[in-house]
Amino acid sequence: MGRIQLDHLTKRFGETVAVEDVTIDTEDGEFLILVGPSGCGKSTTLRMIAGLERPTDGDLYIDGDHMNYRVPQNRDIAMVFQDYALYPHMTVRENIRFGLEEEAGYTAAEMDDQVDATAADLGIVDLLDRKPGELSGGQQQRVALGRAIVRDPEVFLMDEPLANLDAKLRSQMRTELQQLQADLDVTTVYVTHNQTEAMTMGDRLAVLNDGRLQQVGEPLTLYHEPANQFVAGFIGEPMMNFLHGYADDETFIGSGLEYPFDDRLADAVGDTDELVLGVRPEAIDVRRADDATGEREPGSHEFRMQVAVSETHGDQNVVSMTVDDEETDHDTLRAVTDGMHVVTQGDSVVVTIDPDTIHVFDGETGETLC
Ligand code: ATP
Repeated sequence: MGRIQLDHLTKRFGETVAVEDVTIDTEDGEFLILVGPSGCGKSTTLRMIAGLERPTDGDLYIDGDHMNYRVPQNRDIAMVFQDYALYPHMTVRENIRFGLEEEAGYTAAEMDDQVDATAADLGIVDLLDRKPGELSGGQQQRVALGRAIVRDPEVFLMDEPLANLDAKLRSQMRTELQQLQADLDVTTVYVTHNQTEAMTMGDRLAVLNDGRLQQVGEPLTLYHEPANQFVAGFIGEPMMNFLHGYADDETFIGSGLEYPFDDRLADAVGDTDELVLGVRPEAIDVRRADDATGEREPGSHEFRMQVAVSETHGDQNVVSMTVDDEETDHDTLRAVTDGMHVVTQGDSVVVTIDPDTIHVFDGETGETLC
């Protein structure tokens, strides 16, 4: 239960198209993440599912029932917001219980039992008599979750629920939320602009940009097979490198590089002229030039570059490099190297890019060629 279907949903606010023709079908018990940059329409999509906004066009179904005109109270959903929306004058017990009082049909004893069980699930029994002002951010977040869980809804909707927590707590709560969602097995739609959060938590991700759905898929599918340049750039940290150029005689030319195509790349490129090569930083091999031997072979996928910036992150380094020539408008290439291979600014390096790891996008449309 708890299947959500968005069928060509559109929402306009006057001239602004917040969400345009979005179709997504969740599976029962799925953890679906709506992810994308600020203003891409994530919250508006979630608010349409919640019943807080009415679609301008298209249809919304929950478990096959048409929802467009149904008020939020009759949708069997529970929503958790970024700011927790707890009542400051109520205790934790009263706040959680409030989630049940909004629904008819519970006796006082049943409500108490359910509040106790929920508090036990969330590890907040000791906090039941405190007021929200006496709680940390993480504890407040648990209470907000408690108020949603206690109602045992068909669907959870969460809008950036971890945004107000510090980095360490956020990462801890991610794991807890994931565990909780799996235990409860309730279909959950979760909004975030944070790609790391999306990649680590979601069964599937729906990537939005400019109100339009770019791709829906499992995290690793989006990482390995992005539908277009936008998804490729949005998923992955540090982000994919984009080298702008054109094709000439089965060779990519751009950013000071000449990169010969293998058969896979040549087939995919066909007669497209304007190209963008996508290279994941973790797929680039970097060696100091004095460690490298010999001249560049014809058809080689090795290049000499110069280190512009090298950032140390302990277990790994992020190295930004450019081709060492007179031109200044070359794209920078960022690579992730292991912490042992330290290169520093100004070093001359040999960079190897395995053609199997390369993505190619149409330079005009941004569509994936391979
Ligand atoms: P953020 O991550 O910044 O919260 P978002 O992806 O959730 O962004 P939305 O809040 O859904 O984006 O907004 C999508 C677009 O619709 C934006 O251009 C926004 O300005 C516009 N918008 C949202 N709500 C309204 C409204 N009530 N009236 C007019 N425009 C709105």
